Amino acid sequence: MSDKIQAIRGMHDILPDQTPRWQGVERAFREVLASYGYQEIRLPIVEKTELFKRSIGEVTDIVEKEMYTFDDRNGDSLTLRPEGTAGCLRACLEHGLLHQPSLRLWYMGPMFRHERPQKGRYRQFQQMGVEAYGMAGADIDAELILLSKRLWKTLSIDHKLELQINSLGTVEERLVYREKLVEYFRVHFDALDEDSKRRLETNPLRILDTKNQQMSDVVKGAPALNECLGEASLSHFQQLTRTLDEAGVSYTINPRLVRGLDYYSRTVFEWVTTELGAQGTVCAGGRYDGLIAQLGGKASHAIGFALGVERLIDLLDDPARFDEAISPHAYLIRVGSEAERIGGLLAEQLRDALPQLRLIVHCDGGSFKSQFKRADKSGAAYALILGDNEVQNLNIGVKNLRKESEQITLEHYQLIPYLQSLIQI
Ligand code: ATP
Ligand code: MG
Repeated sequence: MSDKIQAIRGMHDILPDQTPRWQGVERAFREVLASYGYQEIRLPIVEKTELFKRSIGEVTDIVEKEMYTFDDRNGDSLTLRPEGTAGCLRACLEHGLLHQPSLRLWYMGPMFRHERPQKGRYRQFQQMGVEAYGMAGADIDAELILLSKRLWKTLSIDHKLELQINSLGTVEERLVYREKLVEYFRVHFDALDEDSKRRLETNPLRILDTKNQQMSDVVKGAPALNECLGEASLSHFQQLTRTLDEAGVSYTINPRLVRGLDYYSRTVFEWVTTELGAQGTVCAGGRYDGLIAQLGGKASHAIGFALGVERLIDLLDDPARFDEAISPHAYLIRVGSEAERIGGLLAEQLRDALPQLRLIVHCDGGSFKSQFKRADKSGAAYALILGDNEVQNLNIGVKNLRKESEQITLEHYQLIPYLQSLIQI
């Protein structure tokens, strides 16, 4: 006997009993984004490795140790995308989409990172992302936060998420800060773990982002970035907080929030929860004005966020509520060869007349009893019944499968209006 082949560690199947909640979340995301005028972009899953090295940064967790990189048959180095921002910007530059003054986009799809799999952390995971280009002001920063909050409200998880914001300033301001930070960490060198000691030379800001609890005291004592912000960055941040205040969005200013990637500047934000253990960040983003020029475009403005769909789904209180949206309205039982023939034709007529109708037609024969069993298992609300009697009398039986009630008989012409009224309920 041969062994069964299993999925790759950290990469999960999403089985049919789970897909309704995924579809529900995806639908909510699409609807919210449409209501703010964002357009969808679909991007390749594989890109040149160089793209991620240049955008995410050589000394980030992702590029240092998490990417799925391989040589293809031509010897080119390719990488399964670990995030969506780099590919989205690459596509917009390649197709000249950034010539317009502003552009609002969204995407969704799988991302790949070679991390240690655990709850809320996988090697293939799903992100939904939003990117807005060409806009310099804090109003677009606020828009991204407001639309993400609207999504939480739509999904009834608003009360579980807390907004944290910070400003990373400009590249120049960060250089000044970097020196202060290095000076501080040199003094506390012994309190740093190995990763952080290494980062002290390459990317000291990332030390603030450490998940190592033993370093929390030394990180807490570090100088804060906002002490190094210039007037323009401060005023940008104040505009953002003012807009959030006026819109009634509560937030915490977290001066240690630096985000893991190199490309951010000014506004960064995260939506975090205490309900998912260590993997508490559900959605994260920020402004990354510098990246456009870094990837060869004309200097402009950009801001975006990405959310992890697995973590979002784990936060849903009542995921089963999405099941109803796809469960069948009716299951057609047909016993006898003439009933099978007529039933097949009738089903297509019903689908022509009622495009919303979700109807399963029983296939492969069997007794009334076995077909009723299947009808029940399908989750359908009603059984439509065709046997010899019904074929002879040109009518059809209808039985509510979810409520104790008598089977009724309808003429064929009565069936469409009857089903229509059921669909509308
Ligand atoms: P973390 O700090 O949890 O490693 P991150 O800063 O690496 O997150 P981002 O690159 O900002 O994450 O990605 C945005 C969102 O995508 C995260 O907030 C999270 O919800 C989700 N995400 C990131 N990595 C994973 C993963 N390996 N598995 C599942 N979801 C993930
Ligand atoms: Mg990470």
